[in-house]
Amino acid sequence: MKKDGIIKALKDIVGNDFASNEPEHLYIYSQDPGASLPRPVDFVVLPKTTEELQEIVKLANEEKIPITPMGGGLTLSGLVIPVKGGIVIDLKRMDQIIEINRYSRYALIEAGVTTGKLLSHLKENYPDLEPPIPDAPPSATVAGNVLIHGSGYLSQKYGDQGAMVNGLEVVLPNGDNAKLGSCALSNYWFAKGPIPDMIGLFLSSFGTMGIVTKLSLQLQPKPKCRDIVFGLMKDPNNIPELLYQITATDLAEDVLLGMQDKPDWMKGYVFVMTYITAEKKEDLDPQVKLFKRLYRKAGANYMKAPKKMQDLYLQKPIFAAGAADYRKGGGFEYVGANMPLEKIPEAYIKGAEVSRKFGIPPTLGSRLIGGTHNIVMFFSYSFNRADPDDMENARSALEETNKLALELGGIPWKAELGAQKQILKKMDPNYKKLFFRIRNLLDPNGIMNPGNWEEV
Ligand SMILES: Cc1cc2nc3c(=O)[nH]c(=O)nc-3n(C[C@H](O)[C@H](O)[C@H](O)COP(=O)(O)OP(=O)(O)OC[C@H]3O[C@@H](n4cnc5c(N)ncnc54)[C@H](O)[C@@H]3O)c2cc1C
Repeated sequence: MKKDGIIKALKDIVGNDFASNEPEHLYIYSQDPGASLPRPVDFVVLPKTTEELQEIVKLANEEKIPITPMGGGLTLSGLVIPVKGGIVIDLKRMDQIIEINRYSRYALIEAGVTTGKLLSHLKENYPDLEPPIPDAPPSATVAGNVLIHGSGYLSQKYGDQGAMVNGLEVVLPNGDNAKLGSCALSNYWFAKGPIPDMIGLFLSSFGTMGIVTKLSLQLQPKPKCRDIVFGLMKDPNNIPELLYQITATDLAEDVLLGMQDKPDWMKGYVFVMTYITAEKKEDLDPQVKLFKRLYRKAGANYMKAPKKMQDLYLQKPIFAAGAADYRKGGGFEYVGANMPLEKIPEAYIKGAEVSRKFGIPPTLGSRLIGGTHNIVMFFSYSFNRADPDDMENARSALEETNKLALELGGIPWKAELGAQKQILKKMDPNYKKLFFRIRNLLDPNGIMNPGNWEEV
């Protein structure tokens, strides 16, 4: 079918206003806020229902047109910029909060629900519950975050957001609509099993296995009070023992670390922020005392968190974009990498060396995930979007950082194309074989976000 026929067929499915191949509409879908170069898009379509989505997928299969699902498009690593053109399926119109189950503590939502929408819905209607969402802009979708193993202020206690999924409804590459988890047999989306667990196939596969239309996500009890115990340490080598001790208390809600050259007073230190919670304010004091002792033992100085920081960080979740754009060039991207805790000191030291090598002031951070079982490291690079050389420089720094993360035994997170290649190169061959066999079985025409997770 020619382009005219395809746009007509898409409009027949979703209505005239929600499909386009006009250059002015496609422009925004050909790029993202990160350092990736723009890539062309042929069509954009915004379905409202699962049935419309199924028809779009069937059409794409018949015509062998690539499709790329998109939530907020905010990963920064170019994951929603099509590699081989085709149709971007923008899911933002599928934005219904279907159910909040208070006793089983989950939210059943459509894939286009943004983190901002879910958060305000709970604040207004269920103030004793909170959702696992990232510190990303509120226009990021809950699904987009969950589907990349995102993390946020609840991850230290409960694991990454992928660990908090109870169930998915997915449109498979042939157009079938499958329910995964307890929802496959029950009206209650309360658990993943106990049945063979296939939910993991759809996480961090970047839309190559299917398109999620609904998901159930665990909610957690919301504490009444919060405080931050803030510390500064000179020697990154003390980080693993300190974090081991902090998590052994079972009192920390969230633990964030960072090392940055700006503002000047932070240069040369690693900062540690442990979030503590309680039902009453006075119950926070003994916890502060306990953590002060632990900090001191690990060679870190306790410091009253500056007022500005308290204001910013205690309004959880924070929206980090303002802090990210400190060079005012409008460009910011980071390599996230999940790492074993014992390699974190090296990650800070070598990560800062990479930044300096590329002339970018080091801005490194990390967050514990599920106790000390996992820690996600952020190597951030800001750049001036108006300067192509500066953007190329950031891309080179990202490439070298991905290499470093893999050398240290970590795994680049929400990996952009270059990082995906590095991961596949290092991966156990039989893991790879299994992955590609499943993918080819599900998607024999290779229409699902092609170019991602592909060997060249
Ligand atoms: C300032 C800033 C701060 C950030 N802080 C954090 C943070 O604290 N924690 C964190 O985890 N992330 C963070 N991020 C990264 C990112 O913004 C978030 O992870 C965000 O939630 C991604 O959601 P999205 O809707 O933008 O996903 P998208 O970019 O739209 O999609 C992500 C991936 O999932 C696929 N996808 C999307 N929807 C579907 C679907 N329905 N079915 C199948 N595949 C789908 C896409 O094809 C893509 O591969 C931050 C980003 C910025 C800019």
